[in-house]
Amino acid sequence: MTLPTPLTDPYGRQIDYIRLSVTDRCDFRCVYCMAEQMQFLPKKELLTLEELEQVCRSFMALGTRKIRLTGGEPLVRRNIMQLIENLGAEVKSGALDELTITTNGSQLSKMANDLAKAGVRRVNVSLDTLDKVQFQKITRWGDLDQVLAGLEAAKSAGLDIKINAVALKDVNDETLPDMIRWAGREGFDLSLIEVMPMGDIGGEDRLNQYLPLSVVRTQLSKQFTLVDTDYRSAGPARYVEIAETGRRLGFITPLTHNFCESCNRVRLTCTGQLYMCLGQDDKADLASALRNGGEAALTEAIIEAIGRKPKGHDFVISRRAPNANVARHMNVTGG
Ligand code: SAM
Ligand code: SF4
Repeated sequence: MTLPTPLTDPYGRQIDYIRLSVTDRCDFRCVYCMAEQMQFLPKKELLTLEELEQVCRSFMALGTRKIRLTGGEPLVRRNIMQLIENLGAEVKSGALDELTITTNGSQLSKMANDLAKAGVRRVNVSLDTLDKVQFQKITRWGDLDQVLAGLEAAKSAGLDIKINAVALKDVNDETLPDMIRWAGREGFDLSLIEVMPMGDIGGEDRLNQYLPLSVVRTQLSKQFTLVDTDYRSAGPARYVEIAETGRRLGFITPLTHNFCESCNRVRLTCTGQLYMCLGQDDKADLASALRNGGEAALTEAIIEAIGRKPKGHDFVISRRAPNANVARHMNVTGG
């Protein structure tokens, strides 16, 4: 079979980026992401690290150039360095452009050096506030000092660091200016994210959490000079430059701004389900394809799935539908 490289979906978008949720488990319980009592996927359903690697390799044979590991908390999966080292070797060989990790930072003190050695050059660290009490309220189980120590370790290891902060109404809105100044001093890029309506979060109301970034932007422009830039990363963020810090600030606005037209990615869960869109429920069972039919069946299943990638998502948070729009939690597909 001649392989279609790069993979192209029905809307002409080239799919060369996969996000892999290597575990749905996490050592934090962020209020917008999970309920405190979570039912996790049965461990026996997880793809092994070898199977996850096989799926990555099949995607790479179809033109994937960038892989992001996420979760849950990717760095709490047992022996995850094995997968990171094997994929990192492909960055070193030139077969991949990038291997990146989205993490809550809790394990970085221990692991940053090994990540850098393995070929990871950049990490995205999720941090919503620098206020210790607020941090504990948001993450429920997290420890801010541990994350800050992890960031130091990542910096010393030479990793590029991008901070992602979810904007939460009446929670961290007033502390975002501090984060912008801090990120400027530390030399970190910062992106703000709107809450997305994914998964039941145990009695919390999304409408109470949802803070449109258009509002944040208006607030910030009272304290900072925001200069529009043409800069675009491959992702969904739109950027401004903050004149006072000289650094970029990204806005990721799935609800107020549709970013689907340039989507180049798909998402694999730790049980081998491929979601072609973060905001839709359609999926392809790559685990069964791999386990029942081997590599050829897996490749065929991937090509068929990309042929079904939808044009865009249908996220909406309104008073009529304030809560989960998409039933699965963010930790399943990894954001
Ligand atoms: N545990 C890692 C972390 O927090 O970076 C990786 C997985 S986490 C699901 C990935 C990103 O999704 C984080 O930046 C987190 O803040 C964000 N996130 C989780 N639930 C979200 C939601 N409902 N709406 C918007 N962002 C969400
Ligand atoms: Fe865990 Fe990340 Fe979800 Fe927070 S956002 S609960 S750190 S997976």
